[in-house]
Amino acid sequence: MSYPSPYRRIATEEAFSVPEVYQALREWAATADPAEPDRDFWDFVFTQDSPGLRRVRRQLLDLDGERLEVMDANGVDVHLLSLTAPGVQTFPAAAAVSLARLANDRLASVIARHRGRFAGLAAVAPQDPPAAAAEISRCVTELGLNGVVINSHTGGEYLDEERFWPILEAAEALGAPIYIHPRSPAASMAAAFRKYGLETGIWGFAAETGLHALRLICGGVFDRFPGLRIVLGHLGEGLPYWLYRIDYMHPVRASYHQRPSLSLKPSEYLKRNFAITTSGMNWAPVLRFCIEAVGADNIMFAIDYPYQVTEDAVRFLDEAEIPEGDKRKIYHVNAERIFGIPPAGGPGPEATALCGRWGSPGGVRGRLVLTF
Ligand code: MN
Repeated sequence: MSYPSPYRRIATEEAFSVPEVYQALREWAATADPAEPDRDFWDFVFTQDSPGLRRVRRQLLDLDGERLEVMDANGVDVHLLSLTAPGVQTFPAAAAVSLARLANDRLASVIARHRGRFAGLAAVAPQDPPAAAAEISRCVTELGLNGVVINSHTGGEYLDEERFWPILEAAEALGAPIYIHPRSPAASMAAAFRKYGLETGIWGFAAETGLHALRLICGGVFDRFPGLRIVLGHLGEGLPYWLYRIDYMHPVRASYHQRPSLSLKPSEYLKRNFAITTSGMNWAPVLRFCIEAVGADNIMFAIDYPYQVTEDAVRFLDEAEIPEGDKRKIYHVNAERIFGIPPAGGPGPEATALCGRWGSPGGVRGRLVLTF
């Protein structure tokens, strides 16, 4: 693969850790109840040995060396960094608040150290919603971060619950997209997944995160926070495929199930308030379907470094048989608009067409992103 390339490539779901959080996660995985979501996943990562696991452990903690070499070798211009799942969401609230703050400060310093190569999403501790809202504000206004990452449920609770609304309110007010990144399903849901390890990337991550997004939609979150923008990885965690049936079934027995009535159809919120990324879904038929179902303006490139292979993700999108203009939107134009990542070489013709930092062609502000 040659570099420079015909495309600016911004990858939007790229994981990292810092030693303090990494060590806390390692201790948690060694001592947590085996029924805890994600405990098996991280126990495996930390205790098993293989070249692939050694590479993942090394690459999570590297921000200045090998990561940039892999980016350069594959023509990837920018990693939008996020603290790897489950973030700080398995820790006691006070520790989680302080570890999130530390990770965000490190993230800001690496972005400053390698100008133009990194952008970043703020880690937060939803266990303490007011502190999380304050941290979103600090990260956007003081550190210049580009949005927020939340790793799906926190202690089995989802962001549509009223106690989390301060987080949604802050994100909407600041125009900060929330990337909802997968993690293993909540314990109440995971039991049937555990046989054969189905609670992980093979199915459970998407089932969990797709459920989370659907709860936000059906809970009326986007009528209360119409400018909120959510991002989902894995080409929308299955939701685009189901839009027809979700719209059809939403009114069925709605009052019996006490579903709030909504201003729009579920599919209309998915198109207005969400964006999706290609993380871990290097498959052209689904990409073409998603372009038709939710529009090329709502899709962004992602690799899921270091869990997925950079070369595969780049080759997939380079070779995908889609319109050239759509490819440019997916590789970088949409990420520049949605996450406020400055265009290469300063504002160009594409930037002048935008309607504000978080603007979208439809004029909607704020977008929530969910993804692993
Ligand atoms: Mn990921």
